[in-house]
Amino acid sequence: MIYDFVIIGGGIVGISTARQLQNRFPHKHIMVLEKEPRPAMHQTGHNSGVIHAGVYYQPGSLKADFCKRGAIQTISFCKEHGIPYQQCGKLLVATNSLEYERMAVLEARCIQNGIDVKRYSGEELREREPAVSGVGALFVPATGITDYRKITGKLAALLVESGGKICFGAEVKAIHEHRDSVHILLASQTVKSRYVIACGGLMADRLARMMHIDIDFLIIPFRGEYYQLPARYNNTFKHLIYPIPDPEMPFLGVHLTRMIDGSVTVGPNAVLGWKREGYGCLNLNLKDSFDMLTFPGFWKVMGKNLLSGIGEFKDSLYKTGYLERVRKYCPLLTRSDLLPYPAGIRAQAVKKDGSLVHDFLFAESRRSLHVCNAPSPAATSAMPIADYLCQKVVDTFEL
Ligand SMILES: Cc1cc2nc3c(=O)[nH]c(=O)nc-3n(C[C@H](O)[C@H](O)[C@H](O)COP(=O)(O)OP(=O)(O)OC[C@H]3O[C@@H](n4cnc5c(N)ncnc54)[C@H](O)[C@@H]3O)c2cc1C
Repeated sequence: MIYDFVIIGGGIVGISTARQLQNRFPHKHIMVLEKEPRPAMHQTGHNSGVIHAGVYYQPGSLKADFCKRGAIQTISFCKEHGIPYQQCGKLLVATNSLEYERMAVLEARCIQNGIDVKRYSGEELREREPAVSGVGALFVPATGITDYRKITGKLAALLVESGGKICFGAEVKAIHEHRDSVHILLASQTVKSRYVIACGGLMADRLARMMHIDIDFLIIPFRGEYYQLPARYNNTFKHLIYPIPDPEMPFLGVHLTRMIDGSVTVGPNAVLGWKREGYGCLNLNLKDSFDMLTFPGFWKVMGKNLLSGIGEFKDSLYKTGYLERVRKYCPLLTRSDLLPYPAGIRAQAVKKDGSLVHDFLFAESRRSLHVCNAPSPAATSAMPIADYLCQKVVDTFEL
């Protein structure tokens, strides 16, 4: 049998794409290959669960566009399928004059991106969130929370109910592109397809290289370590509470997140990882580490961000340093409030010149499309990313 489309990766991007292709081409044969036993076991299942409104992203970028549209589509999918979500809004809190200046830049960016935003004084902030303090804050009402694992699970169920196939435990080892088909090699069988769409998250670069696509980036894993607050804090915060981020970094800073189950998490930080899909803090993978250490962009990015990298590493080791990041805007928290919580690992594409790829990035060959960089807010943006890929299929492939 030859499939029309094989999608590699059972995270939210791969499963959304498969489902969207099925909606557009109901008679085509579609299969998802996922190496794990369930969908959403990597980034999609280890994140903050935030439905981002699109505050931070460069106007005109794919992130700005997809995130805004994705938030609307995500909420409407949750409503339609009874998946829990809440639009609790978010506060971005400035705690000093530098952050206050950066806050003004973010406010202007919200306006450029067409996102509703309000500015609060320090006093107004305290009235809204008595446990939080700062010199000012931005309020973004559209931001929400959900459970991306549930969304992915529902999309996967819909895909299968309508005749699509998902094969778990199916790790793609090699891919050969021929004139009229693509052969995808698993451990003990070969799957044939007319076209392939790779949505491999932390393995995106390896899947592109398997097809000899000329890419100039490497995926570098950045661990995002979280803590959870004790249950007595579950009703303390009405909103999501974020710091004002460093505009040079794609990471948003350690925030207080109301989770959809009612608990509150603290995090994530951004520490260099030594194993792409290893969640324990001592995990090391020789191949992943070798690839990083022999990639010129790794040394450049480390050189440029040496101080912040050391700071992240130190605060990862010493809870007190981590705590101080949150206490800047939420002084009532103490060390014993930080309870263990599983980490997540971000797939961040870094170019040979040491620059971090900020926007979503795609690559293609004659018979394949690759999602190369899909970091946050790609969970929020998964449905527009899927639309984009479907449009590419229509524009590029001979169907
Ligand atoms: C700590 C953290 C917090 C985040 N917070 C948010 C947030 O609040 N809101 C938001 O919108 N986004 C957030 N994100 C980003 C978001 O989670 C990711 O951008 C999104 O989940 C990416 O989805 P994906 O499908 O591309 O990748 P993944 O979910 O990682 O899925 C990729 C899949 O491909 C499979 N795969 C890889 N290689 C192969 C192979 N060779 N063969 C078969 N299968 C393969 C993997 O097993 C995996 O299941 C966060 C990310 C992290 C890490």
